[in-house]
Amino acid sequence: MSGPFVFPVRDIAHRAGEMREFDVEVPAPAKWGEGLVYVAQGEPVQLRVRLESVHEGILVTTEVDTTYRGVCGRCLEDIDRPVEVEFQELFGYPGTEATDFEVQDDHVDLETPVRDSIVLSLPFQPVCQPDCPGLDPVTGEKLAAGTVPETPIDERWAALKALTPDQDDVAARRLASDTEKS
Ligand SMILES: [Zn+2]
Repeated sequence: MSGPFVFPVRDIAHRAGEMREFDVEVPAPAKWGEGLVYVAQGEPVQLRVRLESVHEGILVTTEVDTTYRGVCGRCLEDIDRPVEVEFQELFGYPGTEATDFEVQDDHVDLETPVRDSIVLSLPFQPVCQPDCPGLDPVTGEKLAAGTVPETPIDERWAALKALTPDQDDVAARRLASDTEKS
């Protein structure tokens, strides 16, 4: 078996203490992510992989760098952003203690942990900029940065506002009561 996410461990398997490192760029084999943003199929994915032979199997430490794209959750403008994650997984030897991943024959296949770590790091509410004001609720146009859409005051709150005395009234009443006391 081979593939861009498959790394050989033949020369380090069952030799605790041995280590191999790989630095590769591979294309994402499929679209990763189902939300507003995703890693597109074919997007270059940088992998810095360290394979360490340990007693139970192969300890895999991987830094992943790629780019996600999609749309801003507020203004729907196209965005693309770098995303970087690091994960560590133990690939156990078959028949030993249960691990999520296993060494297969003479290799480890990192596609699933790479994909999962990237997908988990994608934002649910991506924004084109931290203070993206979104769309004007009336015109549907993108608002200029820094503006806050004017929300009409809720009628229930308007009624409450009528019950709240003006600060002038409060001051006047306090003055009146002070005069009574003296
Ligand atoms: Zn935006």
